[in-house]
Amino acid sequence: MNNDEIQKLQRKIRKLEKINAALMKKADSQTQLKHDAFAKFEGRVLLEKEVRQRTHRLEENSKELIKGQTKLRQLIKALPGEVYVFNQNFEIESLTSTEAPDIDPSKATLSQILNQGFSDKVEKIIEQSTEEFFSVTFEYTHKISETDFSNYYCGLSAVDKNRYVLYLKDETEAHKQKMRLQEQELQIAKASKLTALGEMAGGIAHEINTPIGAISLYAEIIETALSNEEDLDRERLIKSAQKIVSIVERISGITGSLRQISRDGDSDSTNPYPLADLVTDAVNLCQQKYRANDVDLNVGAFENSMVLANRVQISQVLVNLLNNAFYAAKSEKCGWIRIECESLEESVRVRIVDCGKGIDEPIISKIFNPFFTTKGIGEGTGLGLSLSQNIIRKHGSELVYELTKEGHTSFCFDLKKTSDKGVRY
Ligand code: ADP
Repeated sequence: MNNDEIQKLQRKIRKLEKINAALMKKADSQTQLKHDAFAKFEGRVLLEKEVRQRTHRLEENSKELIKGQTKLRQLIKALPGEVYVFNQNFEIESLTSTEAPDIDPSKATLSQILNQGFSDKVEKIIEQSTEEFFSVTFEYTHKISETDFSNYYCGLSAVDKNRYVLYLKDETEAHKQKMRLQEQELQIAKASKLTALGEMAGGIAHEINTPIGAISLYAEIIETALSNEEDLDRERLIKSAQKIVSIVERISGITGSLRQISRDGDSDSTNPYPLADLVTDAVNLCQQKYRANDVDLNVGAFENSMVLANRVQISQVLVNLLNNAFYAAKSEKCGWIRIECESLEESVRVRIVDCGKGIDEPIISKIFNPFFTTKGIGEGTGLGLSLSQNIIRKHGSELVYELTKEGHTSFCFDLKKTSDKGVRY
């Protein structure tokens, strides 16, 4: 091969090399393009997957939300009352009301649905609330007439800055029912007081008749002496007259106690009284019954304690307790009752003890229940202890059953002292 031919071949080889390099470059760039396209594709697939997942999650969430809303609506519908949603101008936005079906909620204001006094109260609560998302409950009573009213239990909450929810439950019937029950309880209490007084009536009549007989005897002595002037014994006359005066005082004590205790003292206020006076009221009315049945009544010293009490009510409690003690002493044939008084720091403890050996364990937890009695028909109402407990609680104490150290039945309660031997607290 000559030189020319060699150079020609070399040029061809270089040309082929260039072509090869260009081809290689093109192939490289095509590979890169393919790679990029693949990456893009892969990215899109991932993105689509993510979007699909998120959409699914959103769908699930909104389904839950709808379920929640439906549940909430059903709950609100099932509520035994009405729910109003209103804005800061007190315009109703929605309501679930059975009471006002004709009202277009979009046009009504709160005062059109509730009465003015009621909506004023709601406005005032909102005005005075200091918390942004407050929630309060309150009671509203609307006086319809002297004898009629309606009563609502209300819940008011701020659900956001300018929106409130008001829940109303008509409690009128329940309230009226409660008042009727209270009235019945009051009637029963009065009837039970009359029963207790009735029980004592025989004894009281005797307690009054005996001294009246004595008065008539002393009056006869005076009359005979005065009509027979020769036999005029001044000493005897004065003594007879004094006897009459003291007997009259005793009778007026009994009738005074009777007047006290038979009064309707439920609305009386609590005032300071000598404890001894309260006890005397009750003792005056029971004494004859005790004497006639050979039951000894011992009344302890009262240290001139002045106590805060509704006189009529505390005397009633003492009469109830003395009646129970009498029943126990009579049925156990043991024959004595004691009224004790113990001075504590700020109060006086009054205790009625009887000779009975305590109350049977299984019934102790029931004795304060209304209508619980172990007495026979016509003998007990089962109201004495429950009514007495109510009265003592109103006086800030508790009527307690206790066995004394010697194992005797006792009931005690405390009364606040106002002064002790003239010292005021
Ligand atoms: P009642 O006297 O009409 O039965 P109470 O409420 O006064 O009603 O008393 C309820 C019951 O408590 C009595 O029936 C009796 O079983 C019991 N009880 C009350 N006081 C005494 C007492 N001093 N001794 C024994 N049991 C008593």
